Amino acid sequence: MDSKFFTSYRDPTLAQALVRGIESACQREFRIMEVCGTHTVSLFRSGVRSLLPASLSLVSGPGCPVCVTDQRDIDGFIALSRQERTTIATFGDLMRVPGTKSSLAEERARGADVRMVYSPLDALKIARDSSHQRVIFLGVGFETTAPAIAAAIMAAQQEKLTNFFVYSAHKLVSPALEKLMAISGVHIDGFLLPGHVSVIIGTNAYEPFVEKFKVPSVIAGFEPVDLLEAIHRLVIQLKQGEVRLENAYPRAVTDDGNPAAQKLLDDVFDVQDTEWRGLGSMPKSGLKIKDAFQQFDAEKVFSIEVPKTSVASGCCCGEILTGRKIPADCMLYRKSCTPTHPVGPCMVSSEGTCAAFYRYGGEMQ
Ligand code: SF4
Repeated sequence: MDSKFFTSYRDPTLAQALVRGIESACQREFRIMEVCGTHTVSLFRSGVRSLLPASLSLVSGPGCPVCVTDQRDIDGFIALSRQERTTIATFGDLMRVPGTKSSLAEERARGADVRMVYSPLDALKIARDSSHQRVIFLGVGFETTAPAIAAAIMAAQQEKLTNFFVYSAHKLVSPALEKLMAISGVHIDGFLLPGHVSVIIGTNAYEPFVEKFKVPSVIAGFEPVDLLEAIHRLVIQLKQGEVRLENAYPRAVTDDGNPAAQKLLDDVFDVQDTEWRGLGSMPKSGLKIKDAFQQFDAEKVFSIEVPKTSVASGCCCGEILTGRKIPADCMLYRKSCTPTHPVGPCMVSSEGTCAAFYRYGGEMQ
């Protein structure tokens, strides 16, 4: 282990000690899942993956917001973009996600008004500035992004805006963890739990999951030393045959999370069953807009017809999102599917596993 490798890390001495500790704990094979797409990218970009022993496998999970959005929702977004007097406001990653027959980027090239925004507040501003236009914000992601979207809906209500709408395809992390444990062929010894989501929901939210499935789980931050510490804690549990929920990101994550953000979610959204790419329909795994705010709910206000949907032949994003495959297992990877010409969402998103493997050469690991 070349000590120069660690000089860019926050605490090089600690990082080297953690790597040694991980090596010494991994005397047999362990397979752990990083649930969060940002973790997937950080593990590659920081070089942490390259420091881990061969006996430790890291697999990516269903934590990339764009990737887990069901194909029917993607086709719904595209159908909405074709409506007259309609502006679609979306985070950039969604633009190039292939729907069954088109994408938002293709619709924009054909004349649809599809705009990239950085926040739902940008979409609110567009609605305020163009009262003749119906502005639909596409809400995807987890508990991390949903509070800001709830706040935008409340602001639209207070301002009595009649041309602002949200399509809520938000998802909740905990039901996905439960579903993963029940899928045949999925073998996970431990979970690196997402840092950002945990800031909102808190450590306690995972207690029922860890208690029920008896799987070691550690909340991780995003810096290389954070990731190494969380992995170290996981493999120590595995080596010692223990099961605990641990918080290795205490500077940001508390036991109870962020009550103000949780209240926003409770006030604006109902927890409902929803469809996930790769995981199928899951009970109580999505956030839909409450009836009290239904005038802002794009799914209720716009009667869109979504024809039968299908995913691209050969794309195995679903298996990759559930840790059953890695990108190199896909016959389209690096051939017909590249970041320039993505076939599936896992190659589009900046948090997508296929894009991360492509960018950082992860097919070798
Ligand atoms: Fe889908 Fe492309 Fe990834 Fe294959 S490489 S699983 S086609 S996104």
